[in-house]
Amino acid sequence: MSGFVFSEKPIQIERGDGAVVYDDAGTEYLDMGASYACVPLGHSHEAVDTAAKEQIDDLTYVQASYPVEARTRLYDTLAVAAPGDLENVWLCNSGTEANEAALKFARSATGDSKIVATMQGFHGRTMGALATTWKDKYKKPYEPLIGDVEFVPYDDSEALADAVDDETAAVIMEPIQGEGGIHPASAEYLESAREITDEAGAALIFDEVQTGMGRTGTLWACEQSGVVPDVLTTAKGLANGFPMGATLVADWIAEDYGSHASTFSGGPVVSAAAEATVSTLVEDDIPSHAADVGQYLRGQLREELGDNAREVRGEGLMIGVEIKRGANRVLKELAMDHQVLALPAGRTVVRLLPPLIVDEGQADAVVAALSEAID
Ligand SMILES: *Cc1c(COP(=O)(O)O)cnc(C)c1O
Repeated sequence: MSGFVFSEKPIQIERGDGAVVYDDAGTEYLDMGASYACVPLGHSHEAVDTAAKEQIDDLTYVQASYPVEARTRLYDTLAVAAPGDLENVWLCNSGTEANEAALKFARSATGDSKIVATMQGFHGRTMGALATTWKDKYKKPYEPLIGDVEFVPYDDSEALADAVDDETAAVIMEPIQGEGGIHPASAEYLESAREITDEAGAALIFDEVQTGMGRTGTLWACEQSGVVPDVLTTAKGLANGFPMGATLVADWIAEDYGSHASTFSGGPVVSAAAEATVSTLVEDDIPSHAADVGQYLRGQLREELGDNAREVRGEGLMIGVEIKRGANRVLKELAMDHQVLALPAGRTVVRLLPPLIVDEGQADAVVAALSEAID
């Protein structure tokens, strides 16, 4: 038997500690991608891993209709951490599932079917979430997907106003597009999205699967604009490496969500890990640290890379470096010659999503490595 979906990288990772991972020969790598933002607190985080281990000793799994303490504590922690009045939560196992649920809930609560999504947006790969994802390469082999999805240019309030009407169930967007190349939306755009959806009676869904969990310098990216959506989805870093997604919804959606379920929803072990992750992020004010180091890192990147970078974009520790050549070759060189792991976001963007606990010394090391790899 062999896996066929992922092509394997030539590095076997055996151990992790904070912002660093080690391969089977003991070589140290600086992990500036956090495996797609999945370990905001760093690898092998003591509080998270202990919470999970203790939960395994007591009870690995029971289905979500039985209350368990770990899940109840997670609900309480999320209620405090959630933006605005989003105090109802659906727990699932991934970002795509969180978005799938968001789209279903919005259709049910509004009684409408049309969904407006953004060009270059990414929302996952199940049939529904995939239908709201922009890239044809991800969609074409699997069509037809769910219908009634209209794509509008991102960060363009007029185009959004033209697309949303009385038949619109939901507008789904990322506050900063991740996969699409690290493109932040203006606060005015998010504000107008709020007004436009309010007026049409449509649900505003913010996909914070990548931007959430403190990555952009606040726990949720939407806090920076003050715009509260009707539905906020998150996953990736939510349980610091354990698989969990969440769909946070306003009362009017929760009241008429239809019928939905999933066997592994809110299992005790992932709930314990997520609770420890969210409470550590909040109690240690990790988002502020991400804001500071992120600003430092972006400043250093601009200074050191100079003309070699077309643009350095992003907020906090969600950073895109647009370069003048293919990103994949630079990423390979970064990994093999400089022991720095990073990610692409499209053809010419090097994406940095390090653990949020990364320090300025590690930031300097990345800037030096990237500078050499690009030269
Ligand atoms: C990664 C991602 C998803 C999909 O999450 P999975 O856990 O891979 O299913 C959805 N939306 C955004 C913005 C993402 O970055």
